[in-house]
Amino acid sequence: SSPEKRDFIRQIVREDLASGRHQAIKTRFPPEPNGYLHIGHAKAICLDFGIAAEFGGVCNLRLDDTNPAKEDPEYVAAIQDDVRWLGFDWHDLRHASDYFEVFYQAALKLIRQGDAFVCDLTAEQVREYRGSLTEAGRNSPWRDRSVEENLDLFQRMRAGEFADGARTLRAKIDMASGNINLRDPALYRIKHVEHQNTGNDWPIYPMYDFAHSLSDAAEGITHSLCTLEFEDHRPLYDWCVDKTDLAHSPELIAPLLARGLPKEASKPRQIEFSRLNFNYLVMSKRKLLAMVNDGLVDGWNDPRMPTLQGIRRRGYTPSALRLMVDRVGISKQNSLLDYSLLEGALRDDLDAAAPRRMAVIDPLKLVLTNLPDDHVETLSFSNHPKDESFGKREVPFSRELWIEREDFEEVPPKGFKRLTTGGEVRLRGAGIIRCDEVIKDAEGRIVELRGWLDPESRPGMAGAERKIKGTIHWVSARHAVATEVRLYDRLFTVPNPDDEAEGKTYRDYLNPDSRRTVTGYVEPAAASAAPEQSFQFERLGYFVADRYDHAADKPVFNRSVTLRDTWAK
Ligand code: ATP
Ligand code: MG
Ligand code: MG
Repeated sequence: SSPEKRDFIRQIVREDLASGRHQAIKTRFPPEPNGYLHIGHAKAICLDFGIAAEFGGVCNLRLDDTNPAKEDPEYVAAIQDDVRWLGFDWHDLRHASDYFEVFYQAALKLIRQGDAFVCDLTAEQVREYRGSLTEAGRNSPWRDRSVEENLDLFQRMRAGEFADGARTLRAKIDMASGNINLRDPALYRIKHVEHQNTGNDWPIYPMYDFAHSLSDAAEGITHSLCTLEFEDHRPLYDWCVDKTDLAHSPELIAPLLARGLPKEASKPRQIEFSRLNFNYLVMSKRKLLAMVNDGLVDGWNDPRMPTLQGIRRRGYTPSALRLMVDRVGISKQNSLLDYSLLEGALRDDLDAAAPRRMAVIDPLKLVLTNLPDDHVETLSFSNHPKDESFGKREVPFSRELWIEREDFEEVPPKGFKRLTTGGEVRLRGAGIIRCDEVIKDAEGRIVELRGWLDPESRPGMAGAERKIKGTIHWVSARHAVATEVRLYDRLFTVPNPDDEAEGKTYRDYLNPDSRRTVTGYVEPAAASAAPEQSFQFERLGYFVADRYDHAADKPVFNRSVTLRDTWAK
């Protein structure tokens, strides 16, 4: 990444280092393990890890596992896989649950300071008391409990004495605040749920704002980057950090030391940036989960999914995603970006990075009648037209070829530059051919073309210079490998599937043609690819050998993106 980047977050970091406010910077990427990461998370990952690396700092991966009912170790493993795949490595792997004892001790401190109280209002009552944007809230009748009573009740909450929802621990801030997040927000709730890391140790769980701010402080995070929806939470974030003051409270951090975790508390600063959103996609984890559970897609790693596992399988590369994030930039303005930004980044990345191959996805037989039956030769092809370092490969050529059905027209439309009856076309790298005869089946469908290869037009010969309008690709029928080709398109037919106008939901906008599977043929040097190898299939687009299903003797290729943007605005 370029060091001259000038976005407002990097500017803040630069100033904090220059002024000596921080000697070194430390960031974190804090996903909740309640689903798979998606394209939006790629932006947060690139910022959190990228900024740390650019400024010589470090970034932690922290699993924000404070909501045990929805979290799963399967997600934890996939998140790590995704971050590594994007090209980043974390300094420490942490869980918010590593700090449960710190949170608890910090909560006791708040109670002793008179900054928190145990409240017996029901969830519904809490809502009533909270007021609204236009109306101040009212104090809870339990707000003036004595410190002793609060300590006693909170310790008994922790001991598991009370039922779910019976009580909460709340911050004592200001029920008249214009910022509703400051109206005595809950810090802890009672939930008798087993946790994937801490088992049944805790019958109480911290709320997001409390856990997040204290995790940042406990870990020594200097810059806590998050999305814009947390802007209104920042005063509460600061309140939690200031009131608990972990940076100057070694006794609160002691439980970490006891567990061998480094003690490094800081006063972190939260900075918000806009979320990444694309049209034609849905990105909420809730909807993605529903799509998987209801079988609308073939799982989290379906190549049509915007999950990192999905687009990886589709053939998106880490460098294409990093390029996209760089192009999008960082702002405080939420917007719905055009899907073509994603595809454009992938095309640009693969144009430079993907070797070229030939494949035919809608095959039509072409027999060159002036070649002998057993004619076989080996042609040498450059693997990349613009980069010699890709080297060359051997492509077998013979009397019978597969060409693309759409490259032939009996009655050519105006401007058609490919093959027609009696017409000539250049076979990529093999010479000029003429079509002499069209063979049809009983239904009148074209089943074969018969043609003539001009022997004076082979590459390198003077006759090859003859002006011919079109060039088409081909594979040798006896050498090509039959291949499953999965042609993907957008999952939704409308730009904003999240728009629930007229009682519709994203489910009403699914594109019925978002996946088509055909059998095509690829040249041997494509079939032998390793899973996840990307190619440009000449004239067709970029394709990737499927991560799970591809094998050299049974190839499976996914279309990642066409060569040009085929979606009209
Ligand atoms: P979702 O709403 O899709 O479930 P989330 O925000 O709840 O996402 P988290 O697991 O909490 O998901 O996200 C981890 C980090 O990634 C957070 O810092 C969050 O702000 C950031 N993030 C999530 N979605 C996006 C997005 N679309 N663009 C940029 N950053 C995102
Ligand atoms: Mg979240
Ligand atoms: Mg969420």
